[in-house]
Formats: sequence, C-alpha cells, structure tokens
Amino acid sequence: MLLFYNLTTINMTTRFMSNPENQPAANFIRQIVAQDLENNKHNGEVLTRFPPEPNGYLHIGHAKSICLNFGIAAENHGACNLRFDDTNPEKESVEFMQAIERDVSWLGFEWKELHHSSDYFEQLYNYAVQLIKDGKAYVDSLSAEQIRQYRGTLTEPGKESPDRNRSIEENLDLFARMKTGEFPDGHYILRAKIDMASSNINMRDPALYRIRRMHHQRTGDDWCLYPMYDYTHCISDAIEGITHSLCTLEFEDHRPLYDWVLNELGTPHHPQQIEFARLQLEYTIMSKRKLNQLVTENHVTGWDDPRMPTIAGLRRAGYTAAAIRDFCERIGITKKDSWIEMGVLENCIREDLNENAPRAMAVLEPLRVVIENYPEDQVEQLEVANHPQKPELGSRKIPFSKVVLIEKEDFAETPPPKFKRLIEGGEVRLRGAYVIKCEQVIKDNQGQIIELRCTYDPDTLGKKPEGRKVKGVIHWVSDKHALSAEVRVYDRLFKLPNPDAEENFLDALNPDSLQILTEVKVEPSLSEAEPTNSYQFERIGYFCLDSVDNKDNEKLVFNRTVTLRDTWSGKR
Ligand code: ATP
Ligand code: MG
Repeated sequence: MLLFYNLTTINMTTRFMSNPENQPAANFIRQIVAQDLENNKHNGEVLTRFPPEPNGYLHIGHAKSICLNFGIAAENHGACNLRFDDTNPEKESVEFMQAIERDVSWLGFEWKELHHSSDYFEQLYNYAVQLIKDGKAYVDSLSAEQIRQYRGTLTEPGKESPDRNRSIEENLDLFARMKTGEFPDGHYILRAKIDMASSNINMRDPALYRIRRMHHQRTGDDWCLYPMYDYTHCISDAIEGITHSLCTLEFEDHRPLYDWVLNELGTPHHPQQIEFARLQLEYTIMSKRKLNQLVTENHVTGWDDPRMPTIAGLRRAGYTAAAIRDFCERIGITKKDSWIEMGVLENCIREDLNENAPRAMAVLEPLRVVIENYPEDQVEQLEVANHPQKPELGSRKIPFSKVVLIEKEDFAETPPPKFKRLIEGGEVRLRGAYVIKCEQVIKDNQGQIIELRCTYDPDTLGKKPEGRKVKGVIHWVSDKHALSAEVRVYDRLFKLPNPDAEENFLDALNPDSLQILTEVKVEPSLSEAEPTNSYQFERIGYFCLDSVDNKDNEKLVFNRTVTLRDTWSGKR
C-alpha cells in the first residue's frame, strides 16, 4: 500500500479537460514520429501495429495502446495492422480472437492488414536456421532449472552452458530433429548466442525456441516447436514493414534483444521500438490472468460483465467508443508510470451522456400517489423535451393520469432540514406536469406507508403556481401506463484503489458492486429502447438497455452506466 501511495495519482478532470481546438496534445511519441517523417526515415511512412495475445478480452489498458497505435497512424496518413500474437496456444482461443476484432472495430478503428504471428512460423524457423548457420544460436540441453542457475543475477555474470560451443552442423541437425518431434518436451531449447556476462539479463543467451506439444488453434499439430515472444515479435514487425513498434515500458530492457535479432538477421526492415507507460487505473485490475480468474470463478457473469474493465464490459455498461477514445486522449502518453483515478474515466462517459443521452423518467422504488381531484378516466399526453439543451433531440409525450408513482425517497414523513421534496401538507412539482399537494398518508397495519393521497392544481401545467413558491421538482410515471423494468445498479468492482497490492486481490472485491432493483417502473416511451441505447433517468443517473438480457425477457433490463455526479471522490 505504501508503495502505491508514493506513486503519483493523476486526477485530470480539470487539467486535461478541454482542448478548444480539439488538437491532439503533443507527446513524445508524436514528436518522434513527426521528426522521423521530417527526416524521411522509414521512407516517410508510418505503419504501426496492435499486437494482442488472444488469451483474454481487451481491457481499457489495451484501449490506450489501440488509440495510440491507430491514432498515430491516422494522424500521419499511415496505417495500423492488427496482429494476433498467438505463440502460446495453451491459453489462446478463437473466441478471444473474435472478441478482440469486434472490440477494436467498435472502438472505431480499421486495421490495414490482419495477421497472426503463427502465419510466420515457417519464416521464423528459417530465420533461426540462419542464426545457427551464422554461429549466433545453439541448441542447449540444460534443464530449465540449470538455465536459471547459469543465468547469474543482476550483480553477478552468468555462466556459459557446456553446449554453447556445439558445432554448427550439430546444431543444425538437432534443431531440424526438434522440429520433426524426435525429442520430448523441454528436452532441448534453442538459444541465442549473445553474452552471458551482459549487464542486461535479457542478453544472456535468451531462449528462442522451446519444444512443446500443444495443439494450435490455427496450425493444428503442425508444430511441436514454438518460438518465444521476444524472438517472434521483432521478426513479425520486420516482416510486415512496421516503422514504429510501440510497446509498454516493461519491454525497455528487451529492446537490445529486439535490435540484436534484427541486426544479426539483416532483415529488410528494422522497426524502431518505442516504449510508453502502461495505463494503471485505480479500483480495477488489468492482468488478464486475474480477469480470467474473475470469470472462471464466477465473481462476475462473464468477460462482458458491466463491472469488468474490458471493452466488452464497458460497452455493455453503456460506455460509448467516443468516451473511451476521449479518455485515452486525456490521460496522454508518457514514459513515467502513474495512476489514473477511476473518476477520470467515469467523467468521460458522464460528459458524453450528459451531452448526448435523451432524458427519460424511471422510478426505481415506487410509491403510489392518488390524485383525488383528477378525473377518474382522464389521460393527458404531456409533451416533454428529450434534452433540456438540445431541441434537435426532439420531444415525446408522457401520459399523466389519476395514479402516479414517485420515488419512495422523494417523500418524507419527518423531513430532514432543507428537504425540498414532498411532505405531508406540502407541495412539489411533478416534472413536466402539475404541482401536487400531499393531503394524507395511508399506511398498512405495520405502519408502512403504502400510498399518498394528493390533490393537484390544474393551473400549474407549464406555469408557476399563483401566490406561493414550490421549490421541489420530482420525477414520476403514470401507474397504469408505466412499464416494468429491472435495473442493475453497478458500482466499482473493487473497494480498494489498488487491488493488486493485496495479498489476494479477491479480498478487495466490493461486496456492493451490484444491486438489482426489480420493482422499477419506467415511462412507456422506453418500449422503443434498443439494446445499448443510453438515457439519463432524470435525477438518478445514466442507464442503458442491457444488450444481453433483453432478448426474451418480458421486463426491460437497464444497467447503470454512471451516476449523475461523482460519488466516490473524497471517500478515501
Ligand atoms: P498480460 O496481462 O498477460 O501482461 P498484456 O496486457 O501484455 O498481457 P497483450 O495482449 O500482450 O497483453 O497486450 C497487447 C498490447 O497492449 C501490448 O502492446 C501491450 O503493451 C499493450 N497493453 C497491455 N496492457 C496495457 C496497459 N495497461 N496500458 C497500455 N498498453 C497496454
Ligand atoms: Mg503481453
């Protein structure tokens, strides 16, 4: 925990908020690319790539990388490839690949070419043969444990393997036989021959290939020999002619290896690796292993659970692609690790929906109000604007009748100070409708309030009441016209800002991250709502129609996207 608070936490709600010209902010990567273009480096081209491993769904951290890679390309008339880094089939799947393609497209980006590292298995193999022939790689029979012992430490150099000076012929022969499956898993590995005394441990003869009998989702059982990430990545970049290979800071120490492999092979292209700080967002986690654990152990309903930091989860919660892109632009690109407050992300969607979501009325916990002086069978269709500042969003008709429902908490028998809503003998305005006065409170045998008897002032539709002030305005729906709905009130999945700092991150789960309200009543216009349509439920928050559970449900199901105001700030 201590360590965590020593790091800067960034709250950019105001600092980065408005950018009047909508110009992208300068950052060091934009500067490098601009300079390269000026110097005609890489033939004046910009080709980037986004290289996810298909072992989980994309999360908000990936969105940062996606917006950076596709964004830099688009800004410079370049292009970006999508490449599946599928060299570890054990944890990878077609479902994940499809989800990744869907999410990148949904974010609003188009890749130039779609590739898989596995498309290059043959080329990678041939390049390895070339390294062996050049005396730059060797087959090693040390066990994994021995390799660890020989590797040395940060302060001590490593020790050379007895196999390091195996002849080229023997290396070629063994490597070919590794490919044909002659040896059991782990029996040999292929290592680069670099420098066991290097101060950079990544350069101490790193592994290039391992024997592993795994079924691959694309190449089936063709291979029992799989290339390591560091070796695969740089060559894949080079094959595609990537100009700028953008990755997160933990790869900084791998850059010498990236360059070594390409220099030794003399590939036609030599992309430039540039590292940036990964997104660290409070109150959530980004490790795919841990996200996977949340799913498989049913702490959430799936990768697209609206509490998950995944793109699919955020989408289902009601986030828009524009809000996510806006977030990625606001947090900026730096070379220094920092933490971003969850409020920064929430503000992005709040601002988007405040501006663009139509308004609607929904009563989460209804209380019956009978308007005694309203004619029994009368129904009025009251016209209300869909958005207070945006006439272009039009208006709709809301039925008003003798029995309306209001929010339980909008009535108080013993009101706290400054309570501006309904009290016995008091008046309140029903939004877009009349002023009503509470005449009588009806209770059941247990003393629970079951109904309010009110009167209305017919002269107050769109007009101030005469001779008195009515301050409060509350929302309502007509009892006989309202539709039944279920509302899922989502809150942050974790109750602590840095769950990873806990011994077990599951201990940081927020037990109140989901509250299901089943008695909700919404205005009838919402029968038109389509999955993922967002609304501001007046005075309550932003909600969207759930895209999964609205298929054959007779009730509408809404997810809370975000509250009207930030209710978490200042909580800790
Ligand atoms: P793991 O959770 O196993 O560490 P990963 O997050 O590195 O995996 P990849 O699929 O390898 O997942 O990531 C694809 C790309 O997204 C990489 O270029 C990686 O640097 C980038 N990326 C991943 N996490 C973040 C993050 N939090 N912020 C910015 N970029 C990220
Ligand atoms: Mg990775």
